[in-house]
Formats: sequence, structure tokens, C-alpha cells
Amino acid sequence: MAPKYHPIPLSGGDRKALRKELGQARAMTTVFAQQAEEFRVKGEALIRKADQLSCESWNERMWADGEPIDPSPTIDQAINGGFQWLQIECSRCRTPNEIDLAALPHPPTTFVHDLASRLRCRKCAKLGRRPAATLLQLAPRPRHAVTDS
Ligand SMILES: [Zn+2]
Repeated sequence: MAPKYHPIPLSGGDRKALRKELGQARAMTTVFAQQAEEFRVKGEALIRKADQLSCESWNERMWADGEPIDPSPTIDQAINGGFQWLQIECSRCRTPNEIDLAALPHPPTTFVHDLASRLRCRKCAKLGRRPAATLLQLAPRPRHAVTDS
């Protein structure tokens, strides 16, 4: 792209003023861009803290009463807040399971509580049953470290 053309003023004083204004505008480009980046970093940190608190709030409710499961954080909020794992158990046979939220095929805007009806127990599925999952806790890491053996 060709550089923008500013008509050169006839008077020397006006030329000097134009040079000064152009210099200031170019300097402010950098200043504002740096400020935007600083505010973006601060804003993202605040959102991450809010997401973490939403997960902790939901966990406290699940631990204390186990319901209501709605409202809950979304999958991307849980991951952003540092809670990538969802601990569940089958509502029928009580088999525990842990779900890696980052590995789910669901859209990241899906609410965690909407997973209750979508996650199925493999053991019960073999018997032709499809009980809902009981949601227990969001967790930063799996209860038992996953091994690739
Ligand atoms: Zn089951």
C-alpha cells in the first residue's frame, strides 16, 4: 500500500505543525497498541478468575446439595478456569468415571449440566440401558493420573 499523502502546507509554520502532528499520531499508535495489550491481558486474567469462581461455586453446590445442577459453567469456562475434568457416576450402577472436557466432541459453549443426559455408562449400555450420569465435581486434574500403558 502506498503511504498516505498529506498535502504540504504553503507556510513554513503550518509545515512544522503538520510534521509535529504526524509524529505525535505515529507515537500514539504504539502507545495505544501497548495499552490495548495490557488491558487485554488484565481482562483475560479477570475472566479466568471469574471462570474459576463459577466452577468452585458449582462444586460447592454439588458437594453440599447435589442440586440444582443448572446453572453450571460452560465447557470452555470450566477449562479456562482450570477445571478440565468432570467427575461423574452412573445414576443406576454407581460406576464412577472421569471426563476430560477438552476431549469432548460437544461445542465448547455447552453447559456442564447439559452433559448429564449425554454421557452414558458403558457398563449399563451393554445391558441396553441408558441411565443419565450423576454429576459430582469439576476437577483440575484426574483423580488417578492417566497412564498410557
Ligand atoms: Zn451404569
